[in-house]
Amino acid sequence: PAQSMEELVSLCKRRGFIFQGSEIYGGLQGFYDYGPLGVELKNNIKAAWWRSNVYERDDMEGLDASIIMHRMVLRHSGHEATFSDPMVDNKKNNKRYRLDHLVKDQKADVQARVAELMGVDPENFPALVAALNANPAQASQVLRDAGVRDSFSGEVGEWTEPKPFNMMFKTTIGPVADEDSYGYLRPETAQGIFTNFKNVVDSTSRRLPFGIAQIGKAFRNEITPRNFIFRVRELEQMEIEFFCVPGTDEAWHEHWLEKRLSWWEAQGVPRSKIEILDVPKEDLAHYSKRTYDLMYDYPTLGHEEIEGIANRSDYDLGSHTKNQAELGLVARVEENTDSVAKLTIPHPETNKPVVPFVIEPSAGVDRAMLAVLSEAFTKETLDNGNERIVLKLRPHLAPIKVAVIPLARNREEITSVAKAIKAELQGLGLGRVLYEDSGNIGKAYRRHDEVGTPYCVTVDFDTVGKGEDPALTDTVTVRDRDTLAQERVRISELASWIQAKLR
Ligand code: ATP
Repeated sequence: PAQSMEELVSLCKRRGFIFQGSEIYGGLQGFYDYGPLGVELKNNIKAAWWRSNVYERDDMEGLDASIIMHRMVLRHSGHEATFSDPMVDNKKNNKRYRLDHLVKDQKADVQARVAELMGVDPENFPALVAALNANPAQASQVLRDAGVRDSFSGEVGEWTEPKPFNMMFKTTIGPVADEDSYGYLRPETAQGIFTNFKNVVDSTSRRLPFGIAQIGKAFRNEITPRNFIFRVRELEQMEIEFFCVPGTDEAWHEHWLEKRLSWWEAQGVPRSKIEILDVPKEDLAHYSKRTYDLMYDYPTLGHEEIEGIANRSDYDLGSHTKNQAELGLVARVEENTDSVAKLTIPHPETNKPVVPFVIEPSAGVDRAMLAVLSEAFTKETLDNGNERIVLKLRPHLAPIKVAVIPLARNREEITSVAKAIKAELQGLGLGRVLYEDSGNIGKAYRRHDEVGTPYCVTVDFDTVGKGEDPALTDTVTVRDRDTLAQERVRISELASWIQAKLR
């Protein structure tokens, strides 16, 4: 695995996985562009998730809801009121920080001093942040007295009181910009699932339990975007809302924890690198009955959330439904007089209308990319003493499945065979097959090691009957990324050989 974030960032830029957004104008913080190989890897991760969670199950439907949503959706979801992080400003340089990030950035002795002044156990970081947030006037004083330093300048700052900062992007809709013509870019894909619950049930005749899966962009105006693609302002999520009969929710929660861990394992992210955080009751979001955060051990960052698996009880459908009072909701919800739909489904046994409970596994695509790249990243010393970097990606995730390399790029007899092989392999539907004639063979191998191409197929003079050994006519060299073994394979058998290896 990668030892540092830096070596990943450098590989991603060098080989065309990820670029800074708007780079030619100086870049835009918190936005990244996925390059030629990044788009393939990202698509492969999403396809693997979709296959496993939609196609391979019999209790799931897919959805692709719109990104801009009616502000009522985000009012009744609770996001208008509570989707905020506490922030503080440094009056000395007008820099703004997320309170928890700022405190986390401090040296241990400063952190301990803050905790002491606030009268909180220094080991309990969430409690410390909560205490600072709950006592803004005191917090500002304590941050100053404890000598909390600016994360960038390193100087002791002069801190304002913490105040909530709502992270939703607002946008005007239509040609007239009046007070009511705004909507929000969704801060999570989930709300589109809840607002379409009735549409999906009515159009598919689903009965409990079943789920709805969605992959798509979400937007969060993060106060301090950082750590490469770990924390960005435009992100992509892979989310499931799994609807079940109240009372069966705890068992389904365990089911999904297990399923998700084994999915990560199949993407090359082993369980041993994921810590399961059973979020303490006092740190739970108000709608959550219980949440497991999967904390992956990122290089440089340490354990940080890659996926959250929450039991959201009947909060979401209960918040968006009409006739709330008569539905016997368990969750505490705000009154809703705007919704026109009753979001219930017949109980499978009694047939009485019920608001189902929801289990929500929610994973970030960008954070998945980072974890997958990090696990695949390998530095090896070869027998000849040379070092090589190789991405040992699982073949189904590799951006390029096979590179077909003509040994001489100006010899028609060789290039025509290579192009025919490329076309044939491309037809297998494995993903991208690349016709690679961009440099010498050594460089091509190095490049394909670094981008994780499982096999390189080389067409040489022997292939076309112009080499030393006539027995090699109509064969090619296939080089294995991981073992470096080179094998001569007959062209007529190549497709089935590759197919068997990449299955
Ligand atoms: P954090 O505490 O790190 O800000 P969160 O608890 O707000 O994350 P959720 O709201 O649970 O995150 O979102 C579900 C998933 O979406 C996360 O597990 C993560 O993979 C992804 N995600 C959330 N915010 C971001 C972001 N700013 N950049 C990239 N991915 C994100």
